[in-house]
Amino acid sequence: MITEQSSIAPFDVLEIRKDFPILEQEVYGKPLVYFDNAASSQKPIQVIDAISNYYLTTHSNIHRGVHFLSQKATQAYEDGREKMRAFINAEKTHEIIFTKGTTDAINLVAHSFGRSHLNAGDEVVISTMEHHSNIVPWQMICEEKGAKLRVIPINDAGELLMEEYKKLLNAKTKLVAVNHVSNALGTINPVKEIIALAHSHDIPVLIDGAQAAPHMQLDMQELDCDFYALSSHKMYGPTGVGILYGKEKWLEAIPPYQGGGEMIKTVTFEKTTYNELPHKFEAGTPNIAGGIGLGAAIDYLNNIGLENIAAHEHELLTYATEKLLAIEGIRIIGTAQEKASVVSFLQGDTHPYDTGTLLDKMGFALRTGHHCTEPLMNRFGISGTLRASFAVYNTKGEIDSMIKAVERAKAMLS
Ligand code: PMP
Repeated sequence: MITEQSSIAPFDVLEIRKDFPILEQEVYGKPLVYFDNAASSQKPIQVIDAISNYYLTTHSNIHRGVHFLSQKATQAYEDGREKMRAFINAEKTHEIIFTKGTTDAINLVAHSFGRSHLNAGDEVVISTMEHHSNIVPWQMICEEKGAKLRVIPINDAGELLMEEYKKLLNAKTKLVAVNHVSNALGTINPVKEIIALAHSHDIPVLIDGAQAAPHMQLDMQELDCDFYALSSHKMYGPTGVGILYGKEKWLEAIPPYQGGGEMIKTVTFEKTTYNELPHKFEAGTPNIAGGIGLGAAIDYLNNIGLENIAAHEHELLTYATEKLLAIEGIRIIGTAQEKASVVSFLQGDTHPYDTGTLLDKMGFALRTGHHCTEPLMNRFGISGTLRASFAVYNTKGEIDSMIKAVERAKAMLS
């Protein structure tokens, strides 16, 4: 039951919701309110249709066939790559490597760059607010190579301490890897400054953009980052696909990640030569339908406009923050100046899981737990939070109902 739409939304939210039939359902006899968008967003019919049409009319293996369907499927998949290039304003289409998602993209760089460029005593700089997928791959390769992980600290608002970051950069630093937007706090990090500072020491930078891509206009050439990772399923596209953007010079300089079909030029038992970019990093039959669905998600985002989406979500963030803080005992974790549409909170001493379970029974999908950021939770001395994260189809009316539900859960648990 949607009662109100954002007053400033530069589009009709109720019209947008019609594209997402999944939102019309009830759970436990209550209208579903989906506030778990940072974990994964829902898919519009335009994306579902693109995938379904592909299987109904076009499916074939790509790149190696001379026949009609293979060429049509190849074209549709490669169109997805080109749409992504334009979406993030990369200079060259072959700088877009299709992966399974952000985690896969970071692992690609950790293995390929790490194996070829890290030595004993070298350092990799990450931050306190990284998702496990931007911690563990670096830990693994550092352990293998005898390199060290260094961590940028944060303040109590959940902002990076930039002076401390500067002190961490030195001749041993071989890579900086930080997220653009924190999934647990919502903090938008000053990645342009982070990249420029690293570059002043000739250090390349990887940005984990999983939480940025659905919410803000990205520009690889303006950011000047060396690697950028993102996932389709957080930006209204299908699961199991994402990309690694890499500057051509870096993708040429690092070895393939996996071996197999597609990534080779010639193979003999004595020696294999590798394919050109982007195929060098795309061993095996890819997620063809995924790449096509991701292309449809990009069209969808472009049709609404990233700026319009950002304005709507910012209004929802401000509204939810205000309303939550008006409830006695609510504490928001993550109060950075620059935030994306994520509100992490705690209610008194109540365990987030208890409140989350009650909210679930009232129809609200929020995330509870450490959000794959255990070291960050340790920094705040907590085991987890309740997290509401908003997307283009959410409304103020839904936030009003959540506030009532949080108050009800509070009364039930006290
Ligand atoms: N980084 C961040 C900041 C994330 O929020 C997530 C997903 N929660 C990931 C990385 C991992 O993304 P995926 O599971 O799609 O690989």
